[in-house]
Formats: sequence, C-alpha cells, structure tokens
Amino acid sequence: MSDLKVNVKDLNKNYGDNHVLKGINFSVENGEVVVVIGPSGSGKSTLLRCLNKLEDPTSGSIEIDGVDISQPKVDIDKARENIGMVFQHFNLFNNLTVGENITLAPVQLGKETTEKAQGQAKKLLETVGLTDKYSAMPASLSGGQKQRVAIARALAMNPDIMLFDEPTSALDPEMVGDVLAVMKTLAKEGMTMVVVTHEMGFAKEVADQVVFMDDGKVTEKGTPQQIFENPTNERTKAFLEKVI
Ligand code: ADP
Ligand code: MG
Repeated sequence: MSDLKVNVKDLNKNYGDNHVLKGINFSVENGEVVVVIGPSGSGKSTLLRCLNKLEDPTSGSIEIDGVDISQPKVDIDKARENIGMVFQHFNLFNNLTVGENITLAPVQLGKETTEKAQGQAKKLLETVGLTDKYSAMPASLSGGQKQRVAIARALAMNPDIMLFDEPTSALDPEMVGDVLAVMKTLAKEGMTMVVVTHEMGFAKEVADQVVFMDDGKVTEKGTPQQIFENPTNERTKAFLEKVI
C-alpha cells in the first residue's frame, strides 16, 4: 500500500480569466511536514483551500488517502472531517467561549457526546498551553492565544492531516514562538502537515519537504537543505534573498 496521504496531480484553478493554479503536482507522505513558501499572490492559499474543498479545482485531481476529493460525488463533510485547517485570522466564533469553540463541530457532527467533547477540549487546551482558558471569551485572548485555540479546535475533529495558512502572519512577534512551538510538537507526534508560512526558521527545522510556488506553479521542491542552501531556480533564489 502506498504511504501517500495527499497526491495532487495537474491541479488547475481559474477564477474567471485569472488562471491561479497552473498544473500543480506535489505529494505528501503520511507523517510528513511540507512547508509551502512563495511570494504573495502565487496561489498558496488557493492550493490549501482546494485541499480542504473550500474551493473546487477547475481541473486535475486531489487524492487524499487514495480518494479523489475533487470528484463531485465525494461527500464534502466526510472529506473535511479528516482535514484540520488553521487560518491566518483564526476565524474563532467570538460569541462562544473557548470551550464551546472547540466542542462545537465534534458535537454537532455527532462525532462525540457533549461530555466527551468537553473532556477532550480540556486536554487539547493543555496541549496548546491554555489550560485555564476553557471558559474565556475569545475577545479576552491575545492573538497568539486565539491561534492556539484555533489549533485546538481543528484538532478536536481528530484530523489526520492539518493545513496551516500563514498561522503566525497576523501575530505580534512575541506571540509567534508559542504558536510555532505547538506546531513543532504536532509535527514531532507524527501529524501530517501542510504549512504555508514565511517563517523560514520553522521550515528549516521542521519541514521534511519545502515546496516553492511562483505564479501558480510549483517551481522547485526539495529538502530544506536543498532549497535553502542550494536553490536552483532563479525565482527561488531571489525570494529567499528577500525573506532571509
Ligand atoms: P497567496 O496565498 O500565495 O498569496 P492566493 O491563493 O491568495 O495567493 O491568490 C492567488 C491569486 O488568486 C491572486 O491573484 C488572487 O487575487 C486570486 N484569488 C484568490 N482567491 C480568489 C477568489 N476567491 N476570487 C477571485 N480571485 C481570487
Ligand atoms: Mg495566502
């Protein structure tokens, strides 16, 4: 059996005349951490959104555990249940407590009883270092704390892959480390992760594979060592010179 968790083949996405993803190919093995880097507008968020079926591809295939989720007959809710997503702007429900944010989906989708979900939420808050915030409202939290709640919320569905779209880009610098530390722990525990980030230190330390995107294409991919120490593509070189 193949150990491929994600297999993206010739993925294209158009928004009207705007050809945003132009034949993307990449794969993610079970337990692998793939960091996607590249300039703004290159299609990184669109790629993640396609992986989570928040967008439908124009053409191409996206296999998750061997099932092509781009086929219309695939059950979207079922496909999404196994895929956790964390956004730049947290997207917490501000009218609900932290605990309610975390238990909402598993309870509503009938994955857990309320009691079980609450117990699990408390454990997850421990994992992200926010044990005492169970009854807090999101408005009382710092950005870094909100993002750690968002990670706990995604984990509550017990996903087997986590997608992160610039999870630290909206944070004050002193908050970034705590969020990255949680992500590193997840990676160490064997979570399969696709992470869009400009945190090159994280990429170097945690990524098994770095994918460089430019203008809707994957123009280079390899180990962090290959990409950071010996990039072959001119655009990768130019990008890295700017961000490092
Ligand atoms: P990145 O995340 O790398 O900055 P995006 O995937 O957000 O890139 O955007 C890639 C391109 O797709 C941009 O030209 C952007 O304007 C366009 N785009 C993204 N989302 C939409 C949308 N919902 N409707 C129309 N165009 C979009
Ligand atoms: Mg983006």
